[in-house]
Amino acid sequence: MSRSTPQIGIEVNENRIPFNTPAMTGNELKYVAEAHFSKKLAGDGSFTGRCNEWLQERSGAGKALLTHSCTAALEMAVLLLDIQPGDEIIMPSYTFVSTANAFVLRGGVPVFVDVREDTMNLDERLIEAAITPRTRAIVPVHYAGVACEMDTIVSIAQRHGLKVVEDAAQAVMATYKGRGLGSIGHLGAYSFHETKNIISGEGGALLVNDPAFTRRAEIIREKGTDRSRYLRGEVDKYTWQEVGSSFLPSELIAAYLWAQLESAEKITQARLAHWERYHALLEPFERRGALRRPIVPKECQHNGHMYYVLVEDEHVRQRLLDEYRRQEIGSVFHYVPLHSSPGGQRYGKAGGPLDVTIDQSKRLIRLPLWAGLTETQQMRVVDIFSALVK
Ligand SMILES: *Cc1c(COP(=O)(O)O)cnc(C)c1O
Repeated sequence: MSRSTPQIGIEVNENRIPFNTPAMTGNELKYVAEAHFSKKLAGDGSFTGRCNEWLQERSGAGKALLTHSCTAALEMAVLLLDIQPGDEIIMPSYTFVSTANAFVLRGGVPVFVDVREDTMNLDERLIEAAITPRTRAIVPVHYAGVACEMDTIVSIAQRHGLKVVEDAAQAVMATYKGRGLGSIGHLGAYSFHETKNIISGEGGALLVNDPAFTRRAEIIREKGTDRSRYLRGEVDKYTWQEVGSSFLPSELIAAYLWAQLESAEKITQARLAHWERYHALLEPFERRGALRRPIVPKECQHNGHMYYVLVEDEHVRQRLLDEYRRQEIGSVFHYVPLHSSPGGQRYGKAGGPLDVTIDQSKRLIRLPLWAGLTETQQMRVVDIFSALVK
């Protein structure tokens, strides 16, 4: 039903600007139908194979394995690292819950380290102070598709014998010094959740870059069995090998994702153009000191996943959020820092001061950003700043 169709009791505001609208390429249902009629609906059929290969090639990862979410890919990483109760994992507090929760499921203890003032990514200068004899891994989260300082993080990990798991949920198609995010650490995790750039509703992938993990990754993903080897004809039956679960998506999901991957470049370019337009429109406000725009270090090519600004304080942010809501423009903030949440206090601990996290998480506001956004819509979004900030 079109939005202009009169509906009794429902007022439709044609000026409404949603925070996010998934980019549909037009081929999703065609490929889903193909999967349907092939009668091969379980995981690891031809669409999954195509997606895995595409992701490997595009990111430069050693091996890509589709999962049913990024959360699942992170849980696989935790099983691969054989995290034991009491093991410590260094990560930002300023992130989505799954980064920490995956480790907590196996008894791991998230150790929260502050973020950099410029990128809001894990501050590499504070990592070593948080390392203890129980530390097992570092989890850089590439916030907004902007890379963490990976050279420094990888060399700290090497020096201390730690593993690096990249939470690249927001970072599909983004790079650091030309290398695909998710392909740099021992392991990486992508998300294809509806709110990300490239989507399959729910979906994700584990990137395995250290070949020492490849065989076990396949086993863990297939309920702890060597079914992947059986399907390749390498063994004549498959059996229970070690602890695992069902982490793979159905072919219907992979078919949907395949349509998205075919258009991934186009979707990313559209988002980047909108990102640049916000950046230009908001420049005068930054010059007047009314807000701070995102900062992207020159070695990072981001993917237009998110446009946010930092305003003066939480009161200004609330005024903006209220006005956006009144005008039916989708605008949100995140994250409640994990160290201050009930789960974070129960399961994690601070690995140093978290001043930047606490300060910036109160001042951050996200603007609508999706591939089909128009220039007129973006100008309306920015006009609200003119009215409400100095
Ligand atoms: C979205 C997101 C996740 C979770 O992704 P799912 O695919 O929904 O499980 C994890 N980490 C970060 C940083 C995210 O943005």
